[in-house]
Amino acid sequence: MAEQRALRIAIVGAGMSGICMGVKLQDAGLDDFLIYEAADEVGGTWRDNTYPGLTCDVPSRFYSYSFRPNPEWSHVYSPGSEIQSYFRQVATERGILSRIRFGTPVESARYEQGRWMVTTADGDERFDVLITATGVLRVPRYPAIPGLQTFAGPCFHSARWDHSVSLAGKRIGLIGTGSTGVQIAAELGGKVRGLTVFQRTPQWVFPTPNPRYSRLTTVLLRRWPALCRIGYRFWQNVFEGIPARAVVEPGWQRRIMVTLCRVNLRLSVRDLELRRKLTPGYHPMCKRQVFAGHYYRALQKPGVQVVTEAIDNVDATGVVTADGVHHELDVLVLATGFDAHAYVHPMTVVGERGLTLEEAWAEGPHAYRSVAVPGFPNMFMLIGPHSPIGNQSLVIIAETQAEYVLRWLDHLRSGQVVAVEPTDSATKEYNEDIKAALPQTVWVTGCNSWYLGKDGLPELFPWRPGRHRELLSGPELAHFEVHTAER
Ligand code: NAP
Repeated sequence: MAEQRALRIAIVGAGMSGICMGVKLQDAGLDDFLIYEAADEVGGTWRDNTYPGLTCDVPSRFYSYSFRPNPEWSHVYSPGSEIQSYFRQVATERGILSRIRFGTPVESARYEQGRWMVTTADGDERFDVLITATGVLRVPRYPAIPGLQTFAGPCFHSARWDHSVSLAGKRIGLIGTGSTGVQIAAELGGKVRGLTVFQRTPQWVFPTPNPRYSRLTTVLLRRWPALCRIGYRFWQNVFEGIPARAVVEPGWQRRIMVTLCRVNLRLSVRDLELRRKLTPGYHPMCKRQVFAGHYYRALQKPGVQVVTEAIDNVDATGVVTADGVHHELDVLVLATGFDAHAYVHPMTVVGERGLTLEEAWAEGPHAYRSVAVPGFPNMFMLIGPHSPIGNQSLVIIAETQAEYVLRWLDHLRSGQVVAVEPTDSATKEYNEDIKAALPQTVWVTGCNSWYLGKDGLPELFPWRPGRHRELLSGPELAHFEVHTAER
């Protein structure tokens, strides 16, 4: 057998996808890799988000690595802290922790003389392959509200929750009613002295009860792990068969989702004035669909009010709305979302001939099948542009992408191939196919959301999740420039 080329691989990010890639590399016998992590802990979004009420609105049995079922999930939709512990546990038991360089943000990655030079505060290191695993919703977006800095009480973003602040007996102001704001309101409503929810745009809410798993279930799953796999497949079929289909094509799935959202609002909110406030003027699922069990109930608890007047400014003691009303508050929470287009930001990535990723993406982030970008040889992205991320398990997506990367690494380590990058034409054609499919999706039915890019089009995968797996089932050599040793 011909001698294999030794590959040195850098992964940026030790969240769900970075850990996944590390495990897959290790299993494939590619042991020479290093994971750079800016923080001092693994987990990415599950490390950063610790707000009250945090769960994952994708069922935990499915929001798990397929290679590491977890009988211990406490709920159908388990709390964020459990999910964080799960990823940490996988990283620990698979020996990934020792491969991570914590507290080391990557400043830049440059492709020079056939290798990637990764620069951190500690200096430069060279790698054959660069894999970005930097997540999607990582950079908090702070609202530009006049006077926000003058608020005298604690004020923090939902992804930077300040647990030193006691909420007992406090009047809380909550700005934002996306998936995060809804979970916080559902948890705090009725439990604090006052909760004022500042809603700019109402959300459709899909009714989502969250039962606990019984002790017996856990015991059975521990005894017969195959049952976990059945649970995984069950929830995969439900999620991929209904919500994931509903968003990308008209049909009974879309009608069911729409009906259940409307019925949920009607049955849960009897007060007509409140129902009017909570009724969106756009199609369900156009914005990222909110799944929640107790939201409407929480909004009707004593001490909770929903304010729909626009926010005019913030002063030392509260929020002033456009109707001149001053809402007195002790704590202000900003559930105002993330910069969804930040990708590798603030890391600078420089490919061939000095081309930066920023330049390549001047018209908006785009990639070949969500994983690679022309002009950036031997660079792969996990959860890159147009990944199927709306109401889906990102875990299976990262696994699919990591498997695909492995197939290319097999070529690279064979020694005959030095570098690979997608061609401009294949990438262009793929992105044109995406554009052509977008009109079928629910995301273009007339709403504003973090899904939309600079050109006003959703930066999402407009087909069923199964198509993503098909597209990434193996390298299509004709779509790549393959640089061989002789070149
Ligand atoms: P988001 O969906 O972007 O929502 C931000 C909210 O803040 C919106 O209601 C927005 O109003 C409001 N807002 C922003 N700027 C404002 C301003 N200046 N004044 C008033 N309101 C303002 O952010 P998110 O709720 O953090 O959720 C982001 C994504 O994270 C979700 O869509 C989801 O993908 C993910 N997430 C997932 C889970 C899960 O369980 N899996 C949980 C939480 C979050 P407009 O609607 O008018 O813009």
